[in-house]
Amino acid sequence: MPAPRFARFAIALPLYRVFEYALPDEQPVVPGTRYRLPFTSGTRTGILLESSNASDYEPAKIKPVKERIDQQPVLDAHMLALARWMSDYYLQPIGEVVFQCLPGYLRGARESVSTRVKCWRLVSADAETIENLRSRSPRQFEICQALLTRPAGLNAQELRQINPNWSPVVKALEQKQILSWEWMARRDDPPQDACLPDLSAEQQGVLGEIEPRLQGFAVHLLDGITGSGKTEIYLRMIQSRLDAGLQVIYLVPEIGLTNQLIERVEQRYGNCFAISHSGLTELQRYRAWERFRRAEVSIMLGTRSSLFSRSDALGLIIIDEEHDSSYRQEDGIRYHARDVAIKRAQMLDIPIVLGSATPSLESLRNRTRDCWHSYRLEQRPTGFAPPRLELIDVRNSRLDCGCSAATFARVEKHLAASGQVLMYLNRRGFAPIVMCHECGWQAQCEHCDARLTLHQSLHSLLCHHCGFSQGVPEACPQCGHGEVKHYGIGTEQLEQGLKQRYPKTPILRIDRDVIASREALKSRLQQLQGGEPCILIGTQMIAKGHDYPAITLSVVLDADQALFSASYRASERLAQTLFQVSGRSGRGDREGEAVVQTRFPDHPLMQALLRKDYRSIAADLLQERQSYGFPPFARVVMFRADALELEVALDILEQIKARLQGVQQFDSIACIGPMPALMTRRIGRFRAQLCLMSQDFKVLRSVLRRAMPAIEELPGSARCSWSIDVDAHDL
Ligand code: ADP
Ligand code: ZN
Ligand code: ZN
Repeated sequence: MPAPRFARFAIALPLYRVFEYALPDEQPVVPGTRYRLPFTSGTRTGILLESSNASDYEPAKIKPVKERIDQQPVLDAHMLALARWMSDYYLQPIGEVVFQCLPGYLRGARESVSTRVKCWRLVSADAETIENLRSRSPRQFEICQALLTRPAGLNAQELRQINPNWSPVVKALEQKQILSWEWMARRDDPPQDACLPDLSAEQQGVLGEIEPRLQGFAVHLLDGITGSGKTEIYLRMIQSRLDAGLQVIYLVPEIGLTNQLIERVEQRYGNCFAISHSGLTELQRYRAWERFRRAEVSIMLGTRSSLFSRSDALGLIIIDEEHDSSYRQEDGIRYHARDVAIKRAQMLDIPIVLGSATPSLESLRNRTRDCWHSYRLEQRPTGFAPPRLELIDVRNSRLDCGCSAATFARVEKHLAASGQVLMYLNRRGFAPIVMCHECGWQAQCEHCDARLTLHQSLHSLLCHHCGFSQGVPEACPQCGHGEVKHYGIGTEQLEQGLKQRYPKTPILRIDRDVIASREALKSRLQQLQGGEPCILIGTQMIAKGHDYPAITLSVVLDADQALFSASYRASERLAQTLFQVSGRSGRGDREGEAVVQTRFPDHPLMQALLRKDYRSIAADLLQERQSYGFPPFARVVMFRADALELEVALDILEQIKARLQGVQQFDSIACIGPMPALMTRRIGRFRAQLCLMSQDFKVLRSVLRRAMPAIEELPGSARCSWSIDVDAHDL
């Protein structure tokens, strides 16, 4: 058969089209392969999507490709199909979506690298030769002896564990021709002696139900209270997949990927897993991807984008804390990793497990669908129930660094009983408001519609949206003489206040300002693991996933804000946060407590949180959403635009709306806007939005499908760019 002459390529550009080039007369031509392509005056990397012998264009005008980059395609047919589905469902440019499915390292023209490592093995050693080394060169003997039990060989890292100065010893053994090395793919077997805890009756029951259903596509929603042993169930399911020779993708929220989890997986599976998260370099993440692809490891443990790990033998996807917002990608290509994962599982006809103590309303609604199963875990294996929330009414209290006397009393009670205390305050910095006492001036960002936060340790005022910073003014910049004061409490101030109040107690703060690196986080978490009494202060980073048995008290300091938020999701988020934060307490062999400071103890949501469990609050919230016709009972598609002037942003959305209006059935969907976004100015640009909402997703899709060709033609530019957000989270 002659080689195809033309091919269509995906190029990472925000354009809704593919690009056609002529192919050289060579084989093979395989979709998913990268090529260098001439593009305007330079070169771009493109991924071949499909080839043919004919073209719609005049053949002479079609430029030839420059060269093929890969010997083997970097994306397989399944990943390409998934990318097409994403592009279609999320209405995102195909070129950008296809590149999103690759590790960052491969998005340019860099070649794939080998994952092989040098491994040393015994070549010609009988027991006697080795025994002879025992007295003459004990260091050589030590290494040989280790190799006797490892016929697959040892790599540099493993040799270093035996002897930090291993290299000269190994050289000597090579000279004696006792050892030699070769490049090997690392493929480790899990440790044989991992000791597993006995499952509780409840865990066993759930596992017994799920196991027989792990054939073919189904969504398994594991709805288990905090600390009920969901992770243990994931680990058992992973084992059964590995026993069947299959691979597993295990996704966790960005901050859930702590050493504690890594150690737990390592204990069970040795080196049989790869890790990928945003704290690693592009090369490290790519190596993880490559090792998983080559089946050198069986488990990919990672955050959102690890979902795109390629595998020929994927047998299970696990999404822990499925309600977590970090599964949504908000910039660039917008998608929800949970939803894409469900699609991927369906395409591969494999099971997917979603786990959470506070499942999203979407999943709670979906669980009655075909192909969905749900399971409940209502007990902690340790026997203690998670604490019930208690309110501390601070309406008439004087607060000191944000805490009332009653709150301090509670903290002291737990410290005295050798417990650890967690204090949740989702506001970093020293104080969120800086203003003049005389004229009312407030420190505002020059580039955003946002206040500047005082960061005392940096002696500056910072914008949390764009990073703008300025010095703290001595006198009011507006009236010139007023005193500049700060109001409100951030984690920095809370830390300072607690250090003064409890000079002998370690105060550990965890937020983005102090946890610049994973190492810094690790050292703090290690201190917690030590179990000594201490106070942990943190933002949402500490709310979820952590399992520290010595924590006996959780305190939530700023829940009130969420009671009056404009977002229709605020109640759901608040309920999730409060149940997650309280769920950090009492996980060990002591009962825990959880308190919420509030000025609105009579607010219906506060009352509900006090009296009900997450399940029944979620049921109420679902009913409320249904009566308002909000998601998950409706679907939302948001067009967003940003420009240097507000009028320009609104104008492009008007043009989009005009094109939508030209389509039949447009009248049957709700259309709100165009209007300025809630935070209109951000990083120097004005933002506007146009929201479409309908309870009939089919109609909404069909309107969009028919309007898209005309909308796609609207040029984006540096002056004004626009994007689409399907299943947008906020209105
Ligand atoms: P979840 O993922 O639901 O929050 P974990 O799986 O992390 O819960 O379990 C919470 C704690 O209970 C962990 O410290 C874990 O080691 C322990 N645990 C889980 N299952 C068992 C069991 N069957 N027996 C004893 N301890 C268990
Ligand atoms: Zn002033
Ligand atoms: Zn700003």
